[in-house]
Amino acid sequence: MSTKNWRPQTKAVRGGQIRSSFDETSEALVLTSGYAYPSAEEAEKTFKGESSHYQYSRFGNPTVQMFQDRLAGLEGAEACLATATGMSAIFYALLALLKSGDRIVAARQLFGSCHYIINELLPRYGIKGEFVDGTDLAQWEKALSTPAQAVLFESPSNPMLDIVDVKAVCDLAHKAGATVVLDNAFATPILQRPLEFGADVVVHSATKYIDGQGRTLGGAVLGKKSFIIDKLQPITRNTGPSLSPFNAWVLVKGMETLGLRVERHCANASKVADALAEHPAIARALYPGRKDHPQHALAARQMSGFGGVVAFDLKGGKEAAFKALNRLKLVDISNNLGDAKSMVTHPATTTHMRIGAEERAKLGITDGTVRISVGLEDVTDIIDDLHQALGQ
Ligand SMILES: *Cc1c(COP(=O)(O)O)cnc(C)c1O
Repeated sequence: MSTKNWRPQTKAVRGGQIRSSFDETSEALVLTSGYAYPSAEEAEKTFKGESSHYQYSRFGNPTVQMFQDRLAGLEGAEACLATATGMSAIFYALLALLKSGDRIVAARQLFGSCHYIINELLPRYGIKGEFVDGTDLAQWEKALSTPAQAVLFESPSNPMLDIVDVKAVCDLAHKAGATVVLDNAFATPILQRPLEFGADVVVHSATKYIDGQGRTLGGAVLGKKSFIIDKLQPITRNTGPSLSPFNAWVLVKGMETLGLRVERHCANASKVADALAEHPAIARALYPGRKDHPQHALAARQMSGFGGVVAFDLKGGKEAAFKALNRLKLVDISNNLGDAKSMVTHPATTTHMRIGAEERAKLGITDGTVRISVGLEDVTDIIDDLHQALGQ
């Protein structure tokens, strides 16, 4: 039985495993920065690239390799390169694609730090950025009527859970000569495999659902060997955004339960969204799995489930939102997400504070917007806590 034919859940448990000479059943944590060579000749061969011997953990590490191979199997990618964080995955993917004089088109529905990269950092190196509303194909079409080298978006997006038509945007991007980079952190490969819809590069914040228990930071870039190995790897090897072997080990073990956890996150989030939508203090609840979500049909086409995050607007604005957050007894106030523990944040004053009121308005983030990352507690306890906090 070839490992290629394994179904996703088997790949998540066993994909990429490298057993050492001790024949351990659980993946080994190879916590080392360097490696000893059996001979000077072997060291020379390794540096010439003629031996598969490990050289240095900035270049490669068996535990990191297991993480990369397991995730590549789940995403259906030829190759994967692990990074220290999700942001380094995104930044290095763009760095490997773009040079001075190039142009990037991105959905404005992007993680806060991506706005800094596109608006502040890349222009310093002569790279121009342009934002569009990710849900509006006419805006993508207009922006991509002039040549571009990269396209970047997330779907579902943070925090308003907008869904981008992956296939349609990839077709437009390819006609413009652009490579498509898609941030798949919210969906995970369990719910969405963007490479199947034409995306060229997938990036992950493994900090979120892949770890799933809020322990470590981590990231990954996935795609064709010609990009990951030939273009990206020389840059990361020589500049060092490496994932620590310890964090890789946590993430490798996290993937074994990813499918089970994501399934429960989705089930809990769906019930929380329905409970919130019916609450009199709430103007609207956004969840891609609800029929009243503007892109529900599209989400159902390109995803096999709708994720663990719900956004909602309180009628009473910031004051009501803060009051509700401060009353929570079970759910934590935290800007992290994808944890087994439920967490809420008020995007306008935390994750999306820096982008400013005007940009927030374009994204639909109001002063009453709250994002909840629905955890793995008993969903009745989560809903009870939200009800008591909202005043019922
Ligand atoms: C958290 C997050 C990131 C950044 O990842 P880090 O691991 O915190 O660097 C990027 N994109 C999305 C969608 C995220 O949720």
